[in-house]
Amino acid sequence: MTPRPVPSTKKTVLVAGGAGFVGSHLCEALLQQGHRVICLDSFLTGREENILPLCNYRDFRMVRGDVRAPVILRERLERIYNLASPASPPHYQADPIHTMLTNVEGTAGLLDLARDHGARFVQASTSEIYGDPEIHPQPEEYAGHVNCTGPRACYDEGKRAAEALCFDYARAGLDVRVARIFNTYGPRMRPDDGRVVSNFLVQALQGHDITIYGKGQQTRSFCYVSDLVAGLHALMEVAEPPKTAINLGNPEEFTILDLARQVQALVPGQARLVFRPLPQDDPTRRRPDISRARELLGWSPKVTLDQGLPQTAAWFAAAVGAAGVQPGP
Ligand code: NAD
Ligand code: UDP
Repeated sequence: MTPRPVPSTKKTVLVAGGAGFVGSHLCEALLQQGHRVICLDSFLTGREENILPLCNYRDFRMVRGDVRAPVILRERLERIYNLASPASPPHYQADPIHTMLTNVEGTAGLLDLARDHGARFVQASTSEIYGDPEIHPQPEEYAGHVNCTGPRACYDEGKRAAEALCFDYARAGLDVRVARIFNTYGPRMRPDDGRVVSNFLVQALQGHDITIYGKGQQTRSFCYVSDLVAGLHALMEVAEPPKTAINLGNPEEFTILDLARQVQALVPGQARLVFRPLPQDDPTRRRPDISRARELLGWSPKVTLDQGLPQTAAWFAAAVGAAGVQPGP
C-alpha cells in the first residue's frame, strides 16, 4: 500500500473519465492528497495501464460504466469531476453521435447525481467551444465561432450544450464550475491518440515522417498536464463558484511547424517533415487569455514547452520501446 497523508478534510471524489490521459493524473493527485477516489470510465479511450498504479491506494475504486447510463454508488459524493468524453479529433469523430450524447446526456446525468449527493461539480469543457476564433487571445466572454454542422460539431457543440446545462443547474442552485481546457499534453497520452504532440513524438521516435496538416502555420498553446490538474483542483476548491467558465491553458503560443522542429531537435534520428491536407474546420489559431484564472484561482501554468516536451518524449520513448531520449531538467 502506498502511504498517504490524511487531510483534515478528506473527501469522496468521483472522477468520470478517470482512466483517460488527464483523468488518471487527476485521480493520482487526489489520492496523493489523501482523498477517496472513485473512477468511472467506459474505457472507450481510457486505458487500464493508466490506472494500474492507482490500484495501490486503498482509497481508489474503479467502476466500469458509461456516463450515459444511471450511476448508482454506495458512497456519498462530495466532489464530481466530469472528464468523460473522447477528446482527440480522430477519436471523437469516430462515433460522433456517441460523442454528442456522452457530452449532453452524460453531463446531465452527472449533474443530477451531484444534485442528489449535494456534491460540487467541475465540468471539463474545452477551448473548442471558441471554434475557429475571430478574437485572439480568447477571453471567456468571447462567444465563439463554431460550425454547428461540420465534423467537429459533435464535440464542439456537445461541449457547448454541456456548458449550457451546467449553468442551468447552477442557476437552479447547484455548485457548478466550468473549466475551458486548452491543448494539454504529457505522459499517458495514448500513442495512437491522434493529437499533435503524441503524433509527432511517436512518429519521430519510430523513425517515421512527421505529418504536418496544412502548412503548419496554425497555432496552438500547449499546457503540461500537471499544470492543468492543479488548475482543475484550484477551480474545484475555490470557495465561491466563479460566475463564468474559466480558461485553463498555457498562453505560450506556437505554430505547428515550430512544434515539429522542436520534436526534430529533441528526438535523435532523421524524421522528415511531410505535409498533409488540413482537416475541415481546423482552428487557425488558439491561445487562452488566463487573466480570470490568475485573478480568481491564483493559478498560472509553471511548465514551459521546453521543459514538458522532453519529459513527454522520454515517457513515449519508454511506451513505444524507442531508445535515446532523456527527460529534460
Ligand atoms: P481521454 O480520451 O484520454 O480521456 C477521456 C476519458 O473519458 C477516457 O478514459 C474515456 O474512456 C472516457 N469516456 C469517454 N466516453 C465515455 C462515456 N460515455 N462514459 C464513460 N467514460 C467515457 O481525453 P483527455 O485528454 O484525458 O480529456 C479529458 C477531458 O478533458 C475530456 O472531457 C476532454 O474533452 C477535456 N479536454 C481535454 C483537452 C486536452 O488537451 N487533453 C483539451 C480540452 C478539453
Ligand atoms: N496536427 C498536425 N499533425 C498531426 C496531428 C495534428 O499538423 O499529426 C495539427 C492539427 O491539424 C491542428 C493542430 O495540429 O491544427 C492540433 O491538433 P490536435 O488534434 O492536437 O488538437 P486540436 O485541433 O483539437 O486543437
